[in-house]
Amino acid sequence: MSKQGKLKIIPLGGLGEVGKNMTAYEFQNQILVVDAGIMFPRNDMLGIDYIVPDYEYLRQRADKVVGIVITHGHEDHIGAIHHVLNDISAPVYATRLTRGLIEVKLARHNGASKAILQTVEAGDSVQIGPFKVEFFHICHSIPDAVGLGITTPAGLVVHMSDFKFDHTPVDGWPTDYAKLAEFSRRGVDLLLSDSTNAERPGWTPSEMVIGPAFDKVFAEAPGRVIVATFASLISRIQQVSEAAAKHGRKMALAGTSMVDNVKIARKLGYLNIPDSVIVPLEQALQMQDHKVVLMCTGSQGEPSSIVGRLSAGTNRQFDLKPNDTVVLSSHPIPGNEESISKTINRLLRRGANVIHDGLAPIHVSGHASQEEQKLLLNFVKPKYFLPIHGELRMLKRHAELAIEVGIPEKNTIVVENGQVVELSGGKIKIGERIPGGYVFVDGQSIGDVDYDIMRERGKLARNGIFLIDVSVDKMNGRLLHDPEIITRGFVSPEDAEEMIPEVRQRIMDVVNGGGWDNEKDIVNAVKSYLYEETKRRPMVLVTLSKA
Ligand SMILES: [Zn+2]
Ligand SMILES: [Zn+2]
Repeated sequence: MSKQGKLKIIPLGGLGEVGKNMTAYEFQNQILVVDAGIMFPRNDMLGIDYIVPDYEYLRQRADKVVGIVITHGHEDHIGAIHHVLNDISAPVYATRLTRGLIEVKLARHNGASKAILQTVEAGDSVQIGPFKVEFFHICHSIPDAVGLGITTPAGLVVHMSDFKFDHTPVDGWPTDYAKLAEFSRRGVDLLLSDSTNAERPGWTPSEMVIGPAFDKVFAEAPGRVIVATFASLISRIQQVSEAAAKHGRKMALAGTSMVDNVKIARKLGYLNIPDSVIVPLEQALQMQDHKVVLMCTGSQGEPSSIVGRLSAGTNRQFDLKPNDTVVLSSHPIPGNEESISKTINRLLRRGANVIHDGLAPIHVSGHASQEEQKLLLNFVKPKYFLPIHGELRMLKRHAELAIEVGIPEKNTIVVENGQVVELSGGKIKIGERIPGGYVFVDGQSIGDVDYDIMRERGKLARNGIFLIDVSVDKMNGRLLHDPEIITRGFVSPEDAEEMIPEVRQRIMDVVNGGGWDNEKDIVNAVKSYLYEETKRRPMVLVTLSKA
């Protein structure tokens, strides 16, 4: 079959980072979007709730978007969907569970009414504009995840989102190997595949290995068991409920995202928890400690999560007890190691016993390791390979694995967000560059907080602030009264008390001496004095009024 037309592959998120996955495919001026995820902020992104992909490219072509396909219900794949649907009105295609989780999210953000949601099933083939999309089942740490075969006249692309080759998955539904082989027979022009664990040798263990580890924890815990994980890690919630039933404990859910997700997953039949095992949180808090397990969020040490608040002693509904066993059932997302470590120390300090994946196999990755990635490459035998989902080092390592299994080096394409790749005439070439950065979400504000603000916040956080109010006589340019000075986060109150009269004197010298033009000169005089005294540079703000 001769290949016609040009398919643009547009990575908007997830390439060069872990999280906020989003890829667009463009053919004959029509665009198919795959996934719309968020990323959790790093420690240095102060005050940021989460980050969404920069999809300005799509916003400018909103009328050309023919569909949005979501591969599974994790936050790094669905988290930005309500933002995207505010700008783009295209139908969203997802499997039942994924759709259910999207609906929960949309309801929370009042976006449910506008959205057009289409349910698909693994095995379906749907024509979306010029894109024939074949959905096939893959294993991951959430049920109902799919990979995609995307056919256009330009060729066949296999888009493998998060996956693992688990032969004994929690839901008993292994990856559709036959479909992968079928694609291979047809001839795959390009494979995109998850690189999260490209640096991890061997095979990712089956979800099943967690069972015995949880058994041990549940058997040995003297008091309550508090399991923290992601609210969308549905398979883990299933496993915890099974351990609870086995050890005669009742399970309760804390936090709205956990409660809502479990509700929808149970309703749709993807979570099989008997009514006799699950109790409302209020009831669990009244029960004997060794009879309960609480499920909540916060396995990444997020300060606003329940475990984050428990560690700080600021959780409203319940507090830690000395005999509690806290299980952090997830692996640190790169960049979160420090905050997780802090959280563990705080939990220990408050008397809890803490079990994390460094101590017991209470978590396995949902992502393929090297041997599985190689197996996928061998199954699919693509002509070209484009690693996705990962920091640059992971993408590079994944490309090396592809070369090891026989894909020519020139046919592996390592790019980061914003670098368009084009497939035409059965050949790949690097296309234009478009924006592919971060859009910060801070409360109600989306994209208003930029790197300048982030730098300012960093400066404030590191060095504190000096606020100075200066009023001058507009006739003679002299001070009307002594400058008013407040400082926070810079030096101790005692030191500040000593320093402020000195600062006041400097300002009076500068202003009354006449050697100044504007606020900047006052700021600089104060800064240089403070630097001499402390070798530090706080933020100095001067408000100047003339009367
Ligand atoms: Zn995932
Ligand atoms: Zn993911």
